[in-house]
Amino acid sequence: MTYRDPAVAAAALRAAARVDLGAISSNVARVKEIVGPAEVMAVVKAEGYGHGLVQSALAAVEGGATWLGVAFLEEAVALRAAGIGVRILCWLGTPGEPVAEAVTADIDVSASAPWAIAEIANAALEVGRVARVHLKVDTGLSRGGAVMGDWPELVQAAAKARAEGYVEIVGLWSHLVHGSNPAHPTTALQIGAFNDALSYAASVGVTPQIRHFANSGGLLLVPGTRFDLVRAGLATYGLSPVPDQRDSASFGLRPAMTLTARLALTKKVPAGTGVSYSHRYVTPVPTMLGLVPLGYADGVPRTATNNAEVLVRGRSSTVRRTISGTVCMDQFVVDLGPGDDDFAAGDDVVLFGPGDRGEPTAQDWADACDTISYEIVTRIGVRVPRVYEGA
Ligand SMILES: *Cc1c(COP(=O)(O)O)cnc(C)c1O
Repeated sequence: MTYRDPAVAAAALRAAARVDLGAISSNVARVKEIVGPAEVMAVVKAEGYGHGLVQSALAAVEGGATWLGVAFLEEAVALRAAGIGVRILCWLGTPGEPVAEAVTADIDVSASAPWAIAEIANAALEVGRVARVHLKVDTGLSRGGAVMGDWPELVQAAAKARAEGYVEIVGLWSHLVHGSNPAHPTTALQIGAFNDALSYAASVGVTPQIRHFANSGGLLLVPGTRFDLVRAGLATYGLSPVPDQRDSASFGLRPAMTLTARLALTKKVPAGTGVSYSHRYVTPVPTMLGLVPLGYADGVPRTATNNAEVLVRGRSSTVRRTISGTVCMDQFVVDLGPGDDDFAAGDDVVLFGPGDRGEPTAQDWADACDTISYEIVTRIGVRVPRVYEGA
């Protein structure tokens, strides 16, 4: 889907996720400045956190990312298919996935268990190339990675596959428990466990050049998590991973996404008018309602009902208004106020953006909807065209 398609152009008149690619590049450059000499892996999984997979990746590389990280194999393959040549790591697979495709496309893969090493070695044999593997240790998150008790078996399986010429072990890695509060005491315990895992690997001759541990929260706030490479997801898109330090500008980062729409309809209604499904909002006074053509199918959380705010630009005034009544699948309503005819169909609405023009931020939306900004930007749906600016 590109903006040049007529259908997309029509949709973009209605609503758009405007993505500032220059912000993505400068956020990555900022991260690089913070973590140097460690290298930066820009995490572009989930369509670049909703910003667009390939476009975000290119902007991140422009900003100095030497690695790209994704969860799934097909995300990595799509990056290669787009002609992107930097190192790519994908880290989450299930048995039977076409690992050979990743090896052929020069994509690094992760292993958390011996069965994965066996599959990677088979794939390498099949395509006649050495596979590059990162071994993941579980230092406390209890998600991916081998627990400490299973780590020796994983390292030994990888060392054996290396001796047989199938794999190169390029990385050892782990992931933070408290990415939103990395100063938590658990982080120090995790770093200790990671160092133990590194020592064990070294004791059996596995000493990869690349140790990586930090996500955005770790890399920004705990220097001891940076090691040789950081995996920067949310920071790449200019949002703060740390709710206690919610203004990303304090880290030198700028939000890249602005979600806009245009009013589809305005109408005057009397006091006491019930608005949207179940009448969860009732107008207190005679007022003007505005209809915004974005709904939960587009990623506007239903919990934004009577909670989240938007900015509406009328002819002579710009106002912040709370969503009035239930968010529907395709639309929601805002009570624009008892004023005059200042607002009309076609007027601009900003749901969230960098926040420096009076609009809410994705963090404001996250707070209003009892979630995290990751979820706000990542769930913007496929009906919302991404419009790229500032490249
Ligand atoms: C998503 C993800 C990241 C990026 O996390 P942020 O908090 O967005 O920086 C890093 N590492 C792993 C393993 C991930 O799944």
